[in-house]
Amino acid sequence: MGCGRNLEVITIGNELLTGRTSDRHLLYIGRQLSNYGVHIQRSVVVTDDAKAIEREILESLRQADIVLTTGGLGPTSDDCTREAIARAVGVELVHDDETAKLLAAYFKRVNRPMTPNNLKQARKPAGAETLPNHNGTAPGLWLEHEGKILIVLPGPPEELHPMFENAVLPRLKNLGLLDDENPVVELRTAGVGESMLETTLDPVLAKYPGLDVGYRAQNAIVDFRISSSNGEYSREDLEKIAEECAETLGEDFVGFGCHTLSRIISEKLRQREQVLAVAESCTGGLLASCFTDIPGASKTFAGGVVTYTNAAKVQLLEIPECLLRQHGAVSPEAAVAMATAVAERLSSEYALSLTGFAGPDGGDRDNPVGTIHIGLHTPEGVWSRRVNFQGNRTSVKNRAVNAALDWLRRELAKPTPALSTT
Ligand code: ATP
Repeated sequence: MGCGRNLEVITIGNELLTGRTSDRHLLYIGRQLSNYGVHIQRSVVVTDDAKAIEREILESLRQADIVLTTGGLGPTSDDCTREAIARAVGVELVHDDETAKLLAAYFKRVNRPMTPNNLKQARKPAGAETLPNHNGTAPGLWLEHEGKILIVLPGPPEELHPMFENAVLPRLKNLGLLDDENPVVELRTAGVGESMLETTLDPVLAKYPGLDVGYRAQNAIVDFRISSSNGEYSREDLEKIAEECAETLGEDFVGFGCHTLSRIISEKLRQREQVLAVAESCTGGLLASCFTDIPGASKTFAGGVVTYTNAAKVQLLEIPECLLRQHGAVSPEAAVAMATAVAERLSSEYALSLTGFAGPDGGDRDNPVGTIHIGLHTPEGVWSRRVNFQGNRTSVKNRAVNAALDWLRRELAKPTPALSTT
């Protein structure tokens, strides 16, 4: 169709402008497209107002070849992206029978009544093609208008991502609008801060001028990706450089790609035909959830308990009351007792326990807010480790879980199981 590839993104949603949701679409779409040499020229966030959306679409259509919108495709009255698009390109909204059938089938499958406003999602600007949504009800839309392309995607990331990868990218590729994919190699690290990581890797990376390096830190996990936007380094070159980085990082290197720590642990346990159990206090099941996220987890994850109060620790794990009185529930002794007890009860070779003060209140002189004691039970013995994290309650909990997982990951990475006390 001879379309250029000057692309603009219009992100729609009140919640993005009232601080309730942070815009993750720009990050995702920008990253996906830049892998194919396409760079977003402009991005705007618009409120759920049909006139405001129409205005931005018209503005983008004037200056860009491809306009991509996200959000506002739901069934409720505040979702008005379809109407705004139809008005901007001067066409009617028409009923799409195929989408209506898919919607009816969807509601039947989930055993929920379909209300009349759901049928709104079966309307589309005349001439638009639908992009299937296998993870929700609102189909995406693809509309070619006066040599320009309008791509309309739903707001929820779990719907947008597969639609973007399975429908949008292939279409853009077919139209010759994407370069060959830029090779990218991603590495995951744990237990080392971003600045230390950069310092450690500097001598390696300095040998490769022009290499693109990006870091992303989250809850004590740091990912970094190396790529070559100018095409100077091939995939093979990048893989060699990544190997060199991995070697330099030693134990702090988790793996290539973005596998979770729990998945790596599960895989190791599966190879050894051993299982893990967990006992949690302040993390309230977050650690267990990391394992139940993995399909087929029961082969390596026996289960766990959330023993939040002292009474629960006594009742469910038979932790001696005198131990809790003498040392406190947030103590190395409690962490060791919890890990030992849950390993025994669930006949597991390995067990992790977590007990601490996630804040914002609590804590004492020896264990200020953010202090977590981790217990690790292995076939060789049981140990505890104390960590302290700054941040809000959620962040402390997430970091505590990652610290526990990382400890176990490191132990399982050792060729012969041998632990050193900390
Ligand atoms: P729905 O049928 O769920 O209403 P929709 O296409 O109308 O879908 P929105 O209502 O705009 O989408 O957004 C639905 C949810 O998707 C939001 O509440 C938010 O959680 C998430 N979401 C939307 N836009 C973004 C964004 N830019 N970044 C991150 N999350 C987003």
